[in-house]
Amino acid sequence: KPVIVAIDGPSGTGKSSTSKAVAAQLGLSYLDTGAQYRAITWWMVTNGIDIEDPTAIAAVAGKPEIISGTDPANPTINVDGTDVAGPIRTQEVTSKVSAVSAVPEVRARITELQRSLATSAEYGIVVEGRDIGTTVLPDADLKIFLTASPEARAARRSGELKGADVNATREALIKRDAADSSRKTSPLAKAGDAVEVDTTALTLQQVIECVVTLVEE
Ligand code: C5P
Repeated sequence: KPVIVAIDGPSGTGKSSTSKAVAAQLGLSYLDTGAQYRAITWWMVTNGIDIEDPTAIAAVAGKPEIISGTDPANPTINVDGTDVAGPIRTQEVTSKVSAVSAVPEVRARITELQRSLATSAEYGIVVEGRDIGTTVLPDADLKIFLTASPEARAARRSGELKGADVNATREALIKRDAADSSRKTSPLAKAGDAVEVDTTALTLQQVIECVVTLVEE
């Protein structure tokens, strides 16, 4: 039976690196749901949709065709046939993604894509996000909730952004997590049956080993 692993948590906890490595080690597919929300946000920005207007966003939420490649060695994200892996990581998209993801029609649309990818994965899948264990795949075989201190999360993110100011990164992260945690529809949350792993004092390798062990148990 294919194994389904849900990995949730705020930004900068090592979700992507951990999920990708766990999927690769266990021969599973991998889905970055944040990339899907970033992709739909990129499409809204590119098409001049007013990000402050949830009604306008809802009206076009079904329009873009979003395709995720689920090979952990080469995850891809395409919108209407365009590779958007680079453009979805800009500061503009990052600053707007929480507002777009808060719109219920956007979540319904993306959740449907996620469920269909998860149920069609031949050997199973590692799905990372904010609401996977609570909402998208409540029957997942294993649910992990990753946490880390705000300092550790900001330091990791600034490291990734090469030279970005740690304090500014920390403020932006805290703001995005607060918005993601307080929205009405499927907020960032730990499922009651999730295993919480505090990664503050752990290396990436240790977190990967911990999750692989939990999957194999
Ligand atoms: O994981 P990443 O930081 O790329 O996610 C970008 C944004 O996408 C999050 O800040 C959140 O607003 C949204 N998101 C979400 N639900 C998910 C995954 C991401 O709302 N399952």
